[in-house]
Amino acid sequence: MISGGATPDYKYQVRHMLRRFFSYYRPYKGLFLLDFGCAVLSGLLELGFPMAIKAFVDHLLPGQDWALILLASAGLLMVYLVNTGLMAVVTYWGHMLGINIETEMRRKLFDHLQKLSFRFYDNNKTGHLIARVTKDLEEVGEVAHHGPEDLFIAVMTFLGAFALMFSINVHLALITAAVVPLVAWLTSRYGGRMTRTWQALYGRVGDFNVRIEENVGGMRVVQAFANENHERELFARDNSRYRETKLSAYRIMAASTSLSYMSMRLTQLVVMLAGTWFVLHGQLTNGGFISFLLLVGVFIRPIEKINSVIETYPKGIAGFRRYTELLDTEPDIVDAPEAIVVSHLKGDICYRGVTFGYSAEKKVLRDIDLDIRAGETVAFVGPSGAGKTTLCSLLPRFYEIDAGEITIDGFDIRRLTLASLRSQIGIVQQDVFLFGGSIRENIAYGRLGASDREIEAAARRARLEGMIASLPDGYDTIIGERGVKLSGGQKQRLAIARMFLKNPPILILDEATSALDTETERAIQQSLAELSAGRTTLVIAHRLATIRNADRIVVVDETGVAEQGRHRDLIAAGGIYRRLHDAQFELTGS
Ligand code: ADP
Ligand code: MG
Repeated sequence: MISGGATPDYKYQVRHMLRRFFSYYRPYKGLFLLDFGCAVLSGLLELGFPMAIKAFVDHLLPGQDWALILLASAGLLMVYLVNTGLMAVVTYWGHMLGINIETEMRRKLFDHLQKLSFRFYDNNKTGHLIARVTKDLEEVGEVAHHGPEDLFIAVMTFLGAFALMFSINVHLALITAAVVPLVAWLTSRYGGRMTRTWQALYGRVGDFNVRIEENVGGMRVVQAFANENHERELFARDNSRYRETKLSAYRIMAASTSLSYMSMRLTQLVVMLAGTWFVLHGQLTNGGFISFLLLVGVFIRPIEKINSVIETYPKGIAGFRRYTELLDTEPDIVDAPEAIVVSHLKGDICYRGVTFGYSAEKKVLRDIDLDIRAGETVAFVGPSGAGKTTLCSLLPRFYEIDAGEITIDGFDIRRLTLASLRSQIGIVQQDVFLFGGSIRENIAYGRLGASDREIEAAARRARLEGMIASLPDGYDTIIGERGVKLSGGQKQRLAIARMFLKNPPILILDEATSALDTETERAIQQSLAELSAGRTTLVIAHRLATIRNADRIVVVDETGVAEQGRHRDLIAAGGIYRRLHDAQFELTGS
């Protein structure tokens, strides 16, 4: 689970968050100033209109000078045109500011996801992560654009309108001001609740994504078990949870929108009645009265805006909080400060007192000692769950060991850069993960930027060329999501071709052929033998017949390394290996 870290006091948190948020504006100062400047200018013009109307009614109207009236109208038209232009600028460039910030955040988050370790992905769900990279950031982008600008303009027009109202009639202005505390109270009352509701809503969107991801990804399993109804129920539950959370958000919105509407209209009504009284008593001109009513509209607009602020701010804040939370998840496996870049390792591997557990309570491996010479082929056998895969996955540092050390050619693997360490190790697993593109792209994943000729050579060595030649699109055949259009054997050959291309000195074959039928397995064994020639190879095998010729066989069980030696010697010793071997021999007769 993504952890938010320690919680210092609230004020500090808010200040820290704001500073962090505004740091994203730094590269876009020019854009921000353009957008902000235009918005402020447009706001000032809005304030100016009621005053122009006042002058019009009080001074131009009585004079009945049509030339002057038309001239004033033309002037007003010019100002309207300018304001139209300003609005267009604010809409386009302002949104550009928002999307730039959103893009930058998304880039950062995606970068960060590449750094997080297997342990993180063991504990977090794909759908939730996708929601953070997409939906959350969309809301943040929206606030990044509207946020500071709307807030400033709201305050500016609010105060400006007040000042003008005071200049027209102090008493009437004071009556109008009575509504402000009511509005402030409404805002503070609903703002916090809205943030919490939106945050919950994003969690729900994540749940959704997870459900859809797993359902669609596992549709073959769903249908094979005819569990569609079960899936439907699970989905219906998430769907209605989402609905309920959203409804509670709308309830808050409904209350705040309608209450603030009422307070606004009441204000207008009060101004109308009081204004009429002042006009009749000669304390307010007709122009002043009209202007005042218009100013109430201007002064009310920021209050109306508070409603949309109540909606967008909490969304953005919730999104930004979830963004920083994920961004602050420290990668638990990183390069050491002075990490060394290695290439062309020989492949002398040494485990010394290696202890490891996926959780602190339960150790999977305890005090393992193991030496593998460069070029040696070592096979690991033992009961399922003994820790064979775990043992091998410690070598590329997919997980960090709890105690002891692992060295390659005498280098502690923690002193090497992750990228260079992993460039020296190739892994072929039982289930091959292929990407949705073409055969060519999938082979090239072994070494990005390989030439077509190199890709074809690798395919040839993996004995894939016959199959590829029979396809109408050859190397450009699209293999479907995760390679669904290929057979198990073909996928495995593709994985082997990748390895020929990558050409690492160390190879891990983790039950690479266990899922295949005996015939295919035998054929692929030849390719694997060719692949492992001249490399240090760690083979995990389920079928013992496939590793009979290994240089050494290591038997792993719950106690650690139980026995090791050549096939012949282990059979003669009559230990665990002998028992495993005899059991399989009886079963398969091979
Ligand atoms: P083997 O490859 O020998 O069958 P593994 O190395 O896959 O065994 O697993 C060893 C133990 O570690 C098992 O008990 C398994 O449940 C546990 N385990 C494996 N992978 C993980 C993981 N990602 N998170 C937590 N526990 C795991
Ligand atoms: Mg395994």
